[in-house]
Amino acid sequence: MKNITTLLKEGVVLGDGGYLIELERRGYVDSGSRREKVGTGKGSGQFTPEVAIQHPDALRELHREFLNAGSQVLQALTFFGTREKLNRAGYGADTERINSAAVKLAKEVAGDRALVAGSVSRTQLTEREGMESLGKSRDHIAEQIRLLKDAGVDFLILETFFHLAEMKLALECAAAASLPAVATMSFRPLITHCTDGHTPAECARVMADSGAIAVGANCEQDPERMLPLLREMRAATSLPLAAQPAAFHTTPACHSFTRLPAFPDELETIQVSRGAFQEFGKAARPEGIGYLGGCCGCNAAYIRALKVGLTNGQ
Ligand SMILES: [Zn+2]
Repeated sequence: MKNITTLLKEGVVLGDGGYLIELERRGYVDSGSRREKVGTGKGSGQFTPEVAIQHPDALRELHREFLNAGSQVLQALTFFGTREKLNRAGYGADTERINSAAVKLAKEVAGDRALVAGSVSRTQLTEREGMESLGKSRDHIAEQIRLLKDAGVDFLILETFFHLAEMKLALECAAAASLPAVATMSFRPLITHCTDGHTPAECARVMADSGAIAVGANCEQDPERMLPLLREMRAATSLPLAAQPAAFHTTPACHSFTRLPAFPDELETIQVSRGAFQEFGKAARPEGIGYLGGCCGCNAAYIRALKVGLTNGQ
């Protein structure tokens, strides 16, 4: 299997889709919504990856579906797997077990047909305690990256960071661990600025300067809403762009589905059709997108649609 840097040089790399929302719909992940307002970063926030140790077969099956749909990369379900986030969800003591089990499962399914990426996201400390907590974030992210490296991931996908400052330190941790990293910010409530006030172009430049091998955006917007921000990034860097849009409609006033009342219990009412992803797949090469996948709301049908679009767009 070629490594991620070689694959990116050769053409568009097809990633996988969203795990937590799909597994929540299948009954294996806790959204936390019966107990608290989800999406604020204030409560437990749940949507944590303990499914890797509680229902490994369910996770294995979703990996198989993405692989079968054409994914060249499977993301180990280690999203929200820092000790900080797992502590609040009640699984802090299982941090090592969850991270290593998730990587093992993904590698088992991937075999020599796909690469395995460790997924690392924000700690939520910045949302809860402000920028003074960045030192603590660094420790938590460094710990998780160490666990992922020990478990044998091929590279990292740093995703769903709202603060560029936290992304920057995550990229520093990835470099310290000598793991290549694809880096994608998430923008809410609008695509004009990230939470600590940087434009998409500034984010792209800083992520590129911090050593990312591809930079871009994931989650929050559907493909059509995400495209303008990707174009801003395109103009600011020569690195391949990475795009993993969500499959949910947003509105002109609110460009992020996690800030809409439909999140998390009425998402079916704002689901975007797979056709939009087929169009996005077609646009990927001309738009300079080198890493293409889906985020929340994207099951295997959406990955297959991206692949059809990519193939037709050639
Ligand atoms: Zn997402």
